[in-house]
Amino acid sequence: MLDLRRTGGWAGPYENTPDHHALIGEAASVSRFVYATGFRGHGFLQAPAAGEVIRDLHRGRTPFVDVGPLGVGRFAAGAPRPEPNPV
Ligand SMILES: Cc1cc2nc3c(=O)[nH]c(=O)nc-3n(C[C@H](O)[C@H](O)[C@H](O)COP(=O)(O)OP(=O)(O)OC[C@H]3O[C@@H](n4cnc5c(N)ncnc54)[C@H](O)[C@@H]3O)c2cc1C
Repeated sequence: MLDLRRTGGWAGPYENTPDHHALIGEAASVSRFVYATGFRGHGFLQAPAAGEVIRDLHRGRTPFVDVGPLGVGRFAAGAPRPEPNPV
């Protein structure tokens, strides 16, 4: 291994949140601002479900799963959901 040449590489940053969980919801203070970000190392895994939720929020429908606990308001309310095993 020591003799192998490094031919190149790439890197990408994880987008992170203080409690290591995603931010999904609709902003209370900016009209029709729907957000889904901060997925850290799970963004591909959660993308199909997140996409359906965002579609429903955008159309004013109730999403198939309650994403209220993932709203940005959890930080203002002092109720983060700490992830013990962030990846
Ligand atoms: C090294 C690495 C390995 C990973 N491995 C996995 C894995 O195995 N499984 C898994 O589920 N997830 C994995 N992830 C996480 C996954 O890649 C991300 O969670 C996912 O890509 C996030 O998707 P996104 O659409 O939220 O954001 P992004 O994919 O980051 O998309 C955001 C887009 O917005 C654009 N943008 C930014 N600012 C602006 C602006 N001002 N105006 C216009 N456009 C803008 C960016 O160019 C980008 O195209 C990995 C991430 C990394 C870095």
